[in-house]
Amino acid sequence: MLNAIDAVDWSALPGPALRYEPERVAAGLRALATATGLVQAADAGSLLAGGGLVHDHSGEVFPAAVTAVPLLLAIVRHGHPAAGATALGLLDDALAFATHDASTRVATPYAEAVPICCALADRVRGGAGLLDGSGPEGGRLLADADGHWRFDVEEAVAEGDGALAFGALAGRWPGGGTSVAAELHRPGRAVPLVQAVLHHPPEDGHPDACLRLPGVLPDGLAPPAVLFPARCAPAAAGALAAVVL
Ligand SMILES: [Zn+2]
Repeated sequence: MLNAIDAVDWSALPGPALRYEPERVAAGLRALATATGLVQAADAGSLLAGGGLVHDHSGEVFPAAVTAVPLLLAIVRHGHPAAGATALGLLDDALAFATHDASTRVATPYAEAVPICCALADRVRGGAGLLDGSGPEGGRLLADADGHWRFDVEEAVAEGDGALAFGALAGRWPGGGTSVAAELHRPGRAVPLVQAVLHHPPEDGHPDACLRLPGVLPDGLAPPAVLFPARCAPAAAGALAAVVL
């Protein structure tokens, strides 16, 4: 795990100059991974919470937190119980701060400018099996992450004045069949969609689902196309509206 921590160039990740301190990240993660008791875990947690992954005084979260999620999950799995509890607390803070961050976006393998809350949530869901068995805090974290749904389009066909998009839904669609505003991401562009309706929900634990998207041509949904909740990045929606499909 120490090799994995050192393999990341934390200083290459973006963050506000006065608050993001990349040197705290590697030092804090190394200290947390090797902590053998409560005091060491708390000291490591302070490094990471005071300008490493988050800045708890200002309630900010940095893109480094997204990169660090698998490392924090590995500490939950393999580290000292006090270190695991600290890692869970950091994940909880990061997601809570991110949910109130309307402007920070991060590049991911599936889309280029994902709201930081959704990028974090997606990585948290990657540890679902582990978090399910990590007590009430793990369960709460997963429940919070599920609010940041993601839909990967695999195929789209015309329907009425819009399209039906077939694909995989991760996370929880809000309110069953209600219509929600979404943000559609394709390589090099992102556009707001006023209406996305869950036409067929996932069943039996499989992510396969279908969305109805009024006013969208199937050509505009050719993979790779990914949808996120528009409410996660309200400040950027105007700017993104200027980008044309
Ligand atoms: Zn989100």
